[in-house]
This record gives sequence, C-alpha cells and structure tokens, in this order.
Amino acid sequence: MDLSKMSIEEKTQYWFNNPWTLAHHPFKVIDNVYFVGTNWVSVFLLNTEEGLVLIDCAMQETLYLLIDSIRALGFNPHDIKKLLLTHGHFDHCGAARAIQEMSGCEIWIGEAEEFFFTERRDLIVYEDRVPEFEITNFYDYDAKIDLGDIHIQPVHCPGHTPGTTSLFFDVKHMGKTLTCGIHGGLGVGVLTKKQLEKSGQPLSRREEYLESIVKVMDKKVDVVLPSHPSHCVDHDFLKIGDEDDGTGKGFINREAWHNMLISKKLEIEQMIQDDI
Ligand SMILES: [Zn+2]
Repeated sequence: MDLSKMSIEEKTQYWFNNPWTLAHHPFKVIDNVYFVGTNWVSVFLLNTEEGLVLIDCAMQETLYLLIDSIRALGFNPHDIKKLLLTHGHFDHCGAARAIQEMSGCEIWIGEAEEFFFTERRDLIVYEDRVPEFEITNFYDYDAKIDLGDIHIQPVHCPGHTPGTTSLFFDVKHMGKTLTCGIHGGLGVGVLTKKQLEKSGQPLSRREEYLESIVKVMDKKVDVVLPSHPSHCVDHDFLKIGDEDDGTGKGFINREAWHNMLISKKLEIEQMIQDDI
C-alpha cells in the first residue's frame, strides 16, 4: 500500500483499520529511557525510582503493540505509575483509558487542555476512538515532577493545542548527565486557516505556536525525544534505534533540538506570511 499520495485523513483511516502496519520494535534510547511507540507516534517509557512512567500512549488501536513493546523490554505494563500526556489529540491519548484500567496510573495533562475532555471532545479528533479517562493531575509549570532519580520539568507550549506541554529532564547515562527534551506538539497541519476556522479556534493559535517555539528553542538538550519520530530533522530517530549498539551514541546530538525547532519556526512563519 502506497501511503505517500494519501491525505493525512486517508492515512489515519488506513491506520485505524490496519494498526499492525504501524508496528516498530522497542529500543533503549539511553539509560532508563525507552522507545515503545509506533512508527508514526512516539511513546517513551521511563524506568524511575518512583516506578514506570509513560510519556503519551498513542492510539487505542495500537494498544496491543504498546503492551507488547513494554513486555518485550522486560517491564510489566501493570506497573505503570504515571502517564504524562503531551496533549489531548487522539494519536497521543487514545490508549489512556485502557492503560489506566490496567495499571490504575495517574494521568497528567496541561490544564488548558481540560476543555477538550469536557466541553469540546471534537477537538480530540476522532474522539469516538478515545474512551473517557480520569485526568488526575495538571502540570504545575513552576515545579518539577519528582520521580526520585529523575525530575521532569514541564513547560507550557501552547499552539498545536492550547495545553501542549513539553517535558525536560536529566538522566544519568554511562556516568554522564544528559538532558532529554520532548516537545509536546509540533504539527502545523492543525493550524492552517481552514482547519482553525473549521474547528472554531482563533487564528492567534499560530502566534502562540511561534512564541512557544521561541521560548524553548535555545534550551540545551542533548537527546531529542521526538513526539513523532519523523519530527527529527538531523537524524532518522527510528533507524538510529535499530542500529544503536547500546551506547546511545547516535541519539546524543546537541544541535538536533535547535534544528528541529528552527525548521518548525520557518514552517509556521511561512504559513502566517502566506495566510493559508
Ligand atoms: Zn496533535
């Protein structure tokens, strides 16, 4: 099946019906940080002193792949203590209910996203495929999430959605401290004039997106954890995962964060300028 000529809507429909085509085998990124996502949407598993933490959980349709990936790495999905969501779109939170049913985990999200789950479920997109779940915590942007050996700093990055949240944390890897960064939402497809008007959202979302990029663009990040593998512009994230020799060498790239955000900055500036 050649997906390259399909629209994102057509592709998504194909993926709903053929979720196995999204399978990607799991791998360690650096010590205590694992990729357990699909070839379209990332999910990261952190093994912390406070238990297992999942960052996003992808679609309900790919839940079986996620469970399989977690188990393949030797972890028990029932032990997940926290699920940290970057934002409330179906491709990042579709499996949240099932994960919460299984593990009883906390579910964290940006407070500005709450109305997606109360008043505007249509903004989740394909909301019928996202069973309701209990949001237990909102991010406190002035505090770190204390996981014992790992402390996660959430940063509000509105734009892609109002509550998009980026996460930054240090990890000890082979005797060194490395800073990991995950930008919570970089897709600009939802920010076209047509899309925003259709969903009844203000055009100012685009300026918010731009401001959010500028806010975190110059952060010192050693390891980019892309919320979609395709967002990395410096390297092929999944290919590095396939080829890595266990040292995580290929993932340590101090330019990659900046370059990824610069490419998105140019994209949104062009959209604003062309008024599309
Ligand atoms: Zn999204």
